[in-house]
Amino acid sequence: MSLIRWMFKFLKWILLAAGLLTVVLVYRTLQFNPEPSSIDKLTPISIDYPSALERVSGALKFKTVSEQNPEDGNPQAFLDLHQYLADSFPKVHKHLKLTKIGELSLLYKWSATKSDNDLKPILLMGHIDVVPVDPSTLSDWTHPPFAGVVGPENIWGRGALDDKAAVVAILESIETLLSEGFEPNRDIYFAFGHDEEIGGNNGAKEIAKYLANKGVHFEYTLDEGGFVTQGLLPGFEKPIALVGVAEKGYVTIELSVQSEGGHSSVPPKSTSIGIISQAIVRLETSPFEARLVPATEEMLTTVGKNMPFTKRLVFANLWLFRPFLLNQLSQSKLTNATIRTTIAATVFNAGDKENALPINAKAIINLRLLPGDSVDMALAHITRSINDPRVKVSVIRGGGATPIADSDSVFFNQLSKVIDQVSPEKQLVIVPNLMVGGTDSKHFIEISDNVYRFGGVKINPKSLSGFHGTNEFLPKKEYHRAINFYYNLLKLNQ
Ligand SMILES: [Zn+2]
Repeated sequence: MSLIRWMFKFLKWILLAAGLLTVVLVYRTLQFNPEPSSIDKLTPISIDYPSALERVSGALKFKTVSEQNPEDGNPQAFLDLHQYLADSFPKVHKHLKLTKIGELSLLYKWSATKSDNDLKPILLMGHIDVVPVDPSTLSDWTHPPFAGVVGPENIWGRGALDDKAAVVAILESIETLLSEGFEPNRDIYFAFGHDEEIGGNNGAKEIAKYLANKGVHFEYTLDEGGFVTQGLLPGFEKPIALVGVAEKGYVTIELSVQSEGGHSSVPPKSTSIGIISQAIVRLETSPFEARLVPATEEMLTTVGKNMPFTKRLVFANLWLFRPFLLNQLSQSKLTNATIRTTIAATVFNAGDKENALPINAKAIINLRLLPGDSVDMALAHITRSINDPRVKVSVIRGGGATPIADSDSVFFNQLSKVIDQVSPEKQLVIVPNLMVGGTDSKHFIEISDNVYRFGGVKINPKSLSGFHGTNEFLPKKEYHRAINFYYNLLKLNQ
């Protein structure tokens, strides 16, 4: 066979293969469509809304701050808030049993009136503590952080987003249901921790221990975390509800180097500062491998079905485009955090004299683990990447990610329906989501079949900066949505 004839034959096969591939890709893309939704929106419940706004405004005035050092805290502010809630929600405090755990956390039990079924109890959560306000930012706040100002559009103050308003919205919805004579068909618990912002060890963790000792096991737990948003995911315009089905693990590791010290006029090739700096550079240049965990893959698949054809082509054919997609997701820090275990150097300490070689150098790195990555695996990656026996690596604290909750359970489907029913947005896309931050709900994993995270409000990218930041606010209509959300969710239990 001449070379020319051979080349033509080869080209023919290449074209045929390319044609076939195109047919497969296009066919798969055309089959890849969102499920049609036919949810009827609900009319928001009618309550005395100005009074409800007054009640939430009052709660925001208590300085229930979780300081990093608990000694600096103000327990009286929490006790005052407890009293305020008791005065503001008299029916809740008459009909539900309140137990204070760790003195400052609140656990309410709403007992079932009919016990002729074997429904497991459920748990709704929130937290009454807030993060501190950096004094240097005070002048940047439109309204003072603890004034509880309600303006024409927004509710202003620390805790409006995270998470005091959600706690008050839950209480508001129970109070409304009680005034309508609602009787639950199963035991419903409400847990409001007082130290979520510093890990929840004296609040939520103790509540979980208390309930475990009583043999309580929940069908599901619902905590803060997820929300409705729009314009947050690059290239995706539709409104989307992110329901947290898992949260990443959290590990803090200390790196330390010890060297001889001595006078800086006769230095060694590298000082302890140089050695530890190099270790950090090596860590930053050897990230953990990117991968799609099931929750993220499911989210991307649902999002992908709602995208224009060319983008849908990628999501419909992950078998081919996965490496390309992972590369794209690595480009933004927000999406990068959802596809890999991350490493951040957060503390660095060494040296105190300009002409002396430092003996000790220390650095702290904080890792957020993807589901499936263990602390031991992370430690092995760190040690291997640093590849320097002079650097001592030790775990200070932490643990792996939570299990991934079932995104096809009866409750997940109920939850999705209620989210859609109370949301004015048309074509709302509801997706399971891996949370990169932590919540108190991680303490309830052992005593819940499933743990979900969703707070019932829409948060736009602008108000998102208020989370732990300056100018925290919640639009008034979103507070109404939250009450409506909890009310309708609770109402399913009758
Ligand atoms: Zn929170």
